[in-house]
Amino acid sequence: MASKKQVLLNNLSIGGGSKISVQSMLSCDTLDKVAVFCQIDALINEGCDIIRLAIENETALDAAKEYLAYSKVPLVADIHFDYKLALAASEAGFSKIRVNPGNVSRDKLKNIIACCKKNNTAIRLGINGGSLEKDLLKKYGISPKALAQSALENIKIFEDLGFDNLIVSIKSSCVLTTVMANRLLYESCVYPLHIGITESGFGEEGILKSAIGIGAMLLDGIGDTIRVSLTGDPCEEVRIGRGILKALNLIDCIEVVSCPTCSRCKFDLLKVASEVKKMTKGVDKKMKIAVMGCIVNGPGEAMDADFGVAGGGDNKAVIFRRGQVIKTVAFDKIMEALNEELFRKI
Ligand code: SF4
Repeated sequence: MASKKQVLLNNLSIGGGSKISVQSMLSCDTLDKVAVFCQIDALINEGCDIIRLAIENETALDAAKEYLAYSKVPLVADIHFDYKLALAASEAGFSKIRVNPGNVSRDKLKNIIACCKKNNTAIRLGINGGSLEKDLLKKYGISPKALAQSALENIKIFEDLGFDNLIVSIKSSCVLTTVMANRLLYESCVYPLHIGITESGFGEEGILKSAIGIGAMLLDGIGDTIRVSLTGDPCEEVRIGRGILKALNLIDCIEVVSCPTCSRCKFDLLKVASEVKKMTKGVDKKMKIAVMGCIVNGPGEAMDADFGVAGGGDNKAVIFRRGQVIKTVAFDKIMEALNEELFRKI
C-alpha cells in the first residue's frame, strides 16, 4: 500500500505507510498578510495538513518568512521558473519546494539539489503535459506512458545527483490519463506520490472528476498525499479531499448514513441528518451514526451503525444501538437523544 519511502515535512511524514495527508494551496494575494493568515487558519480548521503557496518574487518570499513562523502545518513553496527563488526558499526554511524540472536547466537543478540537501528540504517533482520532454512528446504524445516515463527519467536525474528526498506527482486534467499514468509510475517508483486531477474545474463537475480520479488511485493503494484542485475557495478542496478519504475509510471520523426516504418517512430526515453532521463536526473518532426514515428497514438495515434513529408512527421515533432498539422518543426529542448517545460513546 502506497509508497515504500517516507519523506518528512517538519513533523509530518508522507509515504511509507503514513496517514494520507490532504493539501491545498493559498488562493489569496500572498502579499496581503491579513488575507494569508486568515486563509491559513481557515484551511487548518478544515483539516488541511499541508499548505502550498506561490512564491513569485523576492518580495513574496520575504512575506512568506512570516507565514512560515505562523503556520502550524508545513508550508510548501511553489517555484516555477526562477531557480534563485528555489534556493532562497530552501534557505528560508520551507520544508518542501515544488519544482517543475522542465522549467529549469540541468545546471540550475544541480544548484537547487545541493541547496535542498544542505537544508534537508524535500522537493516535489511535478510532471504534467506542459512539461513533457520533446522526445517523449514526439514518441507518445501527451499520454500516460509519456507522463510516467518523464517522471521516471527525472527521478533518475535527481538520484544521479544523490538526491532522494523526493515526492513525485503526475497530473493531467483528464481523469483516465492521470489514473493510468500513476498506475504505470507506481510500479517502478519508491517515492511518495502526490495525487490529484489538475484543473478539474469547479462545482459538481470538478468534485466528481476529483473524487473518481483520486478515489480510483487510492483504491489501488496509490497516493500518499492528495490535493483536490478546484476553482474557488481552497477550503472546499480540503472538505472534498477529507470526504474522499472518509468515503474510503482512510481516516478516523464520524460517518453519518441516512436513507433516501420514501413515503414511509414521517419526519424531516434531512434536517435531522444535517444536525447530526453539525453536532459531530471535528470529532476525530471512528463511528457510524444512522438516520433512517422508518422502522421497516431502519434498525435492521443500519445494524452496523453504532447508534441511530428510525422514524415510527404517532410522532415517535426509535433510538437504536447496533440494530437493537433502546428507546422511543417524540420527533422533537430526536436530537436530544442522539446527543446523549454521542456523549456516551465519546
Ligand atoms: Fe423508506 Fe424506511 Fe427505507 Fe427510508 S428506511 S427509504 S423511509 S423504507
